[in-house]
Amino acid sequence: MTARILDGLKIRDEIFAELKDEVRLLTSAGVQPGLAAVLVGDNSASQLYVKSKIAACEQLGLASALLTPPASVTTLEMLAIVEDLNRDNNVDGILVQLPLPPQVDAKRILEAVDPAKDVDGFHPVSLGRLVSGRPGLVACTPAGCMEILRRSNIPIEGANAVVLGRSDIVGKPMALLLMHANATVTICHSKTRDLPDIVRRADIAVAAMGKAGFVQADWVKPGATVIDVGTNTIKDPSEAERLLRNFPARLEKFRTKGSVLIGDVHPDAVNTAGAITPVPGGVGPMTITMLMSNTVKAARLRRASPRVSATQSTASAR
Ligand code: NAP
Repeated sequence: MTARILDGLKIRDEIFAELKDEVRLLTSAGVQPGLAAVLVGDNSASQLYVKSKIAACEQLGLASALLTPPASVTTLEMLAIVEDLNRDNNVDGILVQLPLPPQVDAKRILEAVDPAKDVDGFHPVSLGRLVSGRPGLVACTPAGCMEILRRSNIPIEGANAVVLGRSDIVGKPMALLLMHANATVTICHSKTRDLPDIVRRADIAVAAMGKAGFVQADWVKPGATVIDVGTNTIKDPSEAERLLRNFPARLEKFRTKGSVLIGDVHPDAVNTAGAITPVPGGVGPMTITMLMSNTVKAARLRRASPRVSATQSTASAR
């Protein structure tokens, strides 16, 4: 039997509808949530990401501003930009698009963002709040994975959850969120021994390694839930053949297009898992969704009257 597909696009649409209502409510109370994006230089991938974030703001009725300092910007100039945004009362969320050029001290810039406006959830204060289980702004990708699990009614409490990857932006916050939701969590990384056996014990497996098709179908416990965070662009035909041999339609598409997006989990796992996020169309759409949710949440926490916050909807409440 093939797994239930956990459709990230459908969940995004659900959350967007809730956020639209909340933005309408906030705006009618005189608070239009606003996101400011800082995009340095002309990295085409970054330009594309920022463009979709601004488009999402427009779709939801959020105000947005785009600042585009040149690639030659210095750390001090970037700090000044962030300080201005920290002071601007109309800005609820500050997004510094990564990567920054090598001459800029990225850590210093991210730490200069007011934690109340840290909609990426990268600030140490945000991470500290997450560790101690206090409300705050949570990194978008792991927050999105939790939304997928909750809205798909996957039982988390008491489940054995295995997180593959321990990065600050995905693996670590993901493990903390699952732990706070009362899962029993194992965190794996590149030095972990007997990875297949650990994954075989998982009721929920979250893969965030950046290794195409690494988690094999027979590592997945039959019926388990698999959340595949990985996004790997495959261009090598023999690699595509190896990964997609049981998916002729996708292989055909690869042959036409010359590339294909593959997760960290082997596509064959769809025949072992009970539920699985597809790549693309699973976790991917949730990252921007949770950025929007965090911006609305930041506006509510920072500026909204108690009356508005009492009637807020569910999407940005978590
Ligand atoms: P990262 O910073 O490179 O971290 C990768 C993690 O995987 C590290 O902790 C590393 O272990 C671990 N790892 C590497 N090889 C391993 C192995 N053989 N066995 C077990 N663990 C291994 O990556 P990231 O930023 O967390 O991103 C991970 C993936 O998610 C990437 O494909 C990225 O593109 C994707 N991603 C997707 C979205 C989305 O919106 N869908 C958002 C963010 C990231 P060590 O710590 O020991 O090195």
